[in-house]
Amino acid sequence: MKYIDEYRDRALIKGLVAKINAESTKPVRLMEVCGSHTMAIQKFGIPALLPEHVELLSGPGCPVCVTDIGYVDHAVALARRSDVILTTFGDMIRVPGSTSTLQSVRGEGAAVQVVYSSMEALKIAENNPDKKVVFLGIGFETTSPTTAAAMQAARNRNIGNFFVLSAHKLMKPAMTALIDDGVKIDGYICPGHVSIVTGTAMYEEISAAYKVGCVVTGFEPVDVLQGIDLLISQFEAGKPGVEIAYKRLVTPAGNTKAWDLMWEVLEPCTANWRGIGDIPESGMAPRETYAEFDAARMIPVEIEAPQEVKGCMCGAVLRGTHRPTACPLFGTRCTPEDPVGACMVSHEGACAAFYRYAG
Ligand code: SF4
Repeated sequence: MKYIDEYRDRALIKGLVAKINAESTKPVRLMEVCGSHTMAIQKFGIPALLPEHVELLSGPGCPVCVTDIGYVDHAVALARRSDVILTTFGDMIRVPGSTSTLQSVRGEGAAVQVVYSSMEALKIAENNPDKKVVFLGIGFETTSPTTAAAMQAARNRNIGNFFVLSAHKLMKPAMTALIDDGVKIDGYICPGHVSIVTGTAMYEEISAAYKVGCVVTGFEPVDVLQGIDLLISQFEAGKPGVEIAYKRLVTPAGNTKAWDLMWEVLEPCTANWRGIGDIPESGMAPRETYAEFDAARMIPVEIEAPQEVKGCMCGAVLRGTHRPTACPLFGTRCTPEDPVGACMVSHEGACAAFYRYAG
């Protein structure tokens, strides 16, 4: 508790809030690109502590939310095969596909198992040699090294019935695509977990090319406010740059071992992002040298034509152009108990965060 208390210290919070309110003089738009930040910002009521002209936007940082509907349909088709055990992190099973969810096909008898790690999925494969065990690889640079590690372990241990359906994504192409697409962003609240692996080199490139501030921060109120304070200081001075407000875990170099493993097993590919569309070189798929573990290559299935969920504004929410409360279905037809779109399903989704804390 002592550790947490330091980052929830009332005097520190009050000091930071006073400093931000004193130094911020003009409208500024800051975007967080991490679902955990979205949740922390709403949970701790950060927007209410800031001047009205400081706008906080939620971007495409929730890995479940940005996963496109075609991928969910692909996973559903795989789960429907009688020779497949489909393994997934829990959030994915309620995400709506075009006409079904993994939860509903599990109710129809499909073998869908929730796991807490890629290694747990590998263990299921080891224990079920007569089945093809497919792991849904979801997430950014935080989780893709763990998927890569499971694929490498499958090879080392001769587990030939382990497969990955990869929807892994890279953070930098999405951050630049939003600005290229005309979304006005004055500073990025950069993701703490991703940055532990990546380090800060990619933010240096973004900041230099787009003249936008990039500050990495953590998830407690003092962390978040420190990050916002640094971004506002940069903005007011007209000197955007890269800073780390999460030095207890993030270094400029990142975790090079995890980074190298990810690039050894996976390679960049064009990926479809919900609400943004195709972004070249923004996904991570198994390399040719690991093709035997690639579910997309090795397990043929018929996938239905994708149909977007009618009325859902997840796309606009993920691009930061609309708040969840602007969606006519928010809190009425769409709730965490009965979600219509992915942003309400995931515990890191912007719609779920607003519903819980700010709706
Ligand atoms: S409130 Fe529901 S329907 Fe509306 S954008 Fe969010 S997830 Fe989609």
